[in-house]
Amino acid sequence: RADMALYEVKEGGRNGFAFYHPALETETRNRRQLEQDLKRAEAEGQLFLQYQPQADVRSCGISGFEALLRWRHPERGLVPPDLFIPLAEASGMIVPIGAWVLREACAEAARWKVPLSIAVNVSPVQIQHGDLVELVTATLAETGLDPTRLELEVTEGVLLRDGARALTVLTRLRELGVRIALDDFGTGYSSLSTLRAFPFDKIKVDRSFVRDLASSTESAAIVRAVLGLGHGLGLPVIAEGVETEEQRRALAESGCADIQGYLIGRPAPIGAFAAVTGLRADAGSVVH
Ligand code: C2E
Ligand code: MG
Ligand code: MG
Ligand code: MG
Repeated sequence: RADMALYEVKEGGRNGFAFYHPALETETRNRRQLEQDLKRAEAEGQLFLQYQPQADVRSCGISGFEALLRWRHPERGLVPPDLFIPLAEASGMIVPIGAWVLREACAEAARWKVPLSIAVNVSPVQIQHGDLVELVTATLAETGLDPTRLELEVTEGVLLRDGARALTVLTRLRELGVRIALDDFGTGYSSLSTLRAFPFDKIKVDRSFVRDLASSTESAAIVRAVLGLGHGLGLPVIAEGVETEEQRRALAESGCADIQGYLIGRPAPIGAFAAVTGLRADAGSVVH
């Protein structure tokens, strides 16, 4: 490989040599820099939310929105969440950032003229290290949002570290009236035992299965199995990443309750959905 250089290493390295990859070094430096920048992002107004509609699979009527975090970096422009959320999790920054997201999303939903639901992603790190129950309680009180309108999306990662703590936290959150959705279902390690052990209200099928619904009989079989599982457990299933009418029809025929995806709407500033929320785009909302 042309970009792989062999350098002498003074300390360490069994033979005094190690493979050194300049691109990797740049990447590490980039990560550190990005992590530093993220610390100031909230205070400097670089974070904002977009909202993506969730809809009934048959009528396509919008039942709620998922809040999705965005970071506009002053030099790099929009940084994808799949890149900066893991950094925020590794550094613990996701705890204050997640608190900001929750407050922002709840305050927004509380202003709508219609009682649609609002889904907020919660990181396993917030469950393990933040006082999530206290945060949610305080945020609902501050914003006046009805707890039954709030849905927290967690991934199977919640089980990986301290399952007992996660169970306590999720149970107490449900006692507040908040619903818990299991996000990205099917991509984790312990899907079935997770479902049995935790008090979920909804299952979200990962978009990787939806994407291949028409072309792959395996993906179609997995989606049907998840829908059967949800039905057996009495849990509604929502499919994410629905892009085509063909996918929507297949999901409707298999008994899926709700869909989310570009077919219904791309994530956008809430003003784009003014006709649905009953708010004019300029009715006091901050336009980013
Ligand atoms: P997620 O929670 O599974 O969110 C759905 C992702 O799928 C979003 O990506 C959304 O833009 C994308 N998506 C929705 N419909 C379609 C579609 O039809 N086609 C395709 N190709 N993609 C679609 P996004 O916004 O880039 O977010 C990625 C992930 O970052 C989220 O996955 C979530 O895990 C995480 N994330 C986003 N916001 C937050 C947040 O506030 N807190 C935490 N902890 N994680 C967040
Ligand atoms: Mg989600
Ligand atoms: Mg998801
Ligand atoms: Mg995801």
